[in-house]
Amino acid sequence: MSVILKNVHKSYESESGVHPVLKGIDLTIQPGEFVAIIGKSGSGKSTLLNMITGIDRPTTGSVRVNDTDLHSLPPRKLAPWRGRQIGVIFQFFQLLPTLSLLENVMLPMDFCGMYAPRERLQRAMGLLEQVQMAEHAHKMPSAVSGGQQQRVAIARALANDPPIIVADEPTGSLDSKTADSVFTLFRHLVERGKTVIMVTHDNDLAHQVQRTVVVVDGEIVNEYVMQAFPHLDAEQLGHLHSRLERVFVPAGSMIIQEGDEADRAYIIVSGEADVLIHQGFGEDRVVNRLEPGQYFGEIALIHGSRRTASVRAREDMELLAFGKEELSGLLNRSTMTVEEMNQEVRERLAQLATMKQAVMK
Ligand code: ADP
Ligand code: MG
Repeated sequence: MSVILKNVHKSYESESGVHPVLKGIDLTIQPGEFVAIIGKSGSGKSTLLNMITGIDRPTTGSVRVNDTDLHSLPPRKLAPWRGRQIGVIFQFFQLLPTLSLLENVMLPMDFCGMYAPRERLQRAMGLLEQVQMAEHAHKMPSAVSGGQQQRVAIARALANDPPIIVADEPTGSLDSKTADSVFTLFRHLVERGKTVIMVTHDNDLAHQVQRTVVVVDGEIVNEYVMQAFPHLDAEQLGHLHSRLERVFVPAGSMIIQEGDEADRAYIIVSGEADVLIHQGFGEDRVVNRLEPGQYFGEIALIHGSRRTASVRAREDMELLAFGKEELSGLLNRSTMTVEEMNQEVRERLAQLATMKQAVMK
């Protein structure tokens, strides 16, 4: 019951040529996760959601939702499939203006033939109650506020009890207080076991969810980069992302060597590494182990000194490398990151000093 996108590319063609919008998206979302998708306007967030809901199709790559390969669904089966599997919520509510709120909520059940016809009314009322709109059930959409319309849109998205809720900037046109209450509704849905995937402009809201996916120019920022630098905002992450270089190293190889001059630092994406110091004789001594989401090589870059230790791959590893310029750019933009990295460097140097002293004895 998960959402799995593999190497999804999406391009649009126009008179001016082919315009790539998604450039190799790999994304897995587990059942019950609350995921916020953030990124600049035009970065491809809505297009990404449209891949998941099947509203649009990838140019290449695969999308699998709840054990269904979307490309294997014939077009006529797509809408009924979506109606049962995914509740979709848009920024501008998109309630049908000629139907009452209650009728709007009943519509997906009618459309998919879910629930016995006489149950539908009662179920729709129950859903309106859940979003505190039952007393307005017989009003038309235009007779209630934007926040209230969005509550009804959420009730409508829940009509067929879909396991996944996808929302595209659902709080984008609401004032912050109303946005908070709509957001709280989403949180309750997650507590009740729904998977919620929400595009949002609101950084505060994005930080309140379990997982944030940052889209930059049609690509997803590696989540280990975010783990390594948790204080960067979407723009800072985007800036760094575009400058990172992917490096693969085989098991057993020395990635950096104690005493060498330094030009790059690394974030670990997969595999583990040992930090080693030279003992003057025999084998080097392992002083630490690093795992995905950690960085190394920063000390010599910051201090303009030679490598203070060696780092060796324990297994095949994927790394993201960055140079001095990227590091100072990063540190100039985020004081929180400076503080955290300074703290980390202090601890690492203290540990190295202790270990080197022990080796001397
Ligand atoms: P976001 O939701 O992050 O603001 P979108 O996914 O809506 O970004 O759009 C990303 C890019 O794809 C934009 O440059 C937009 O112009 C382009 N785009 C989106 N949909 C279409 C379409 N149907 N035809 C052509 N270009 C499109
Ligand atoms: Mg959008």
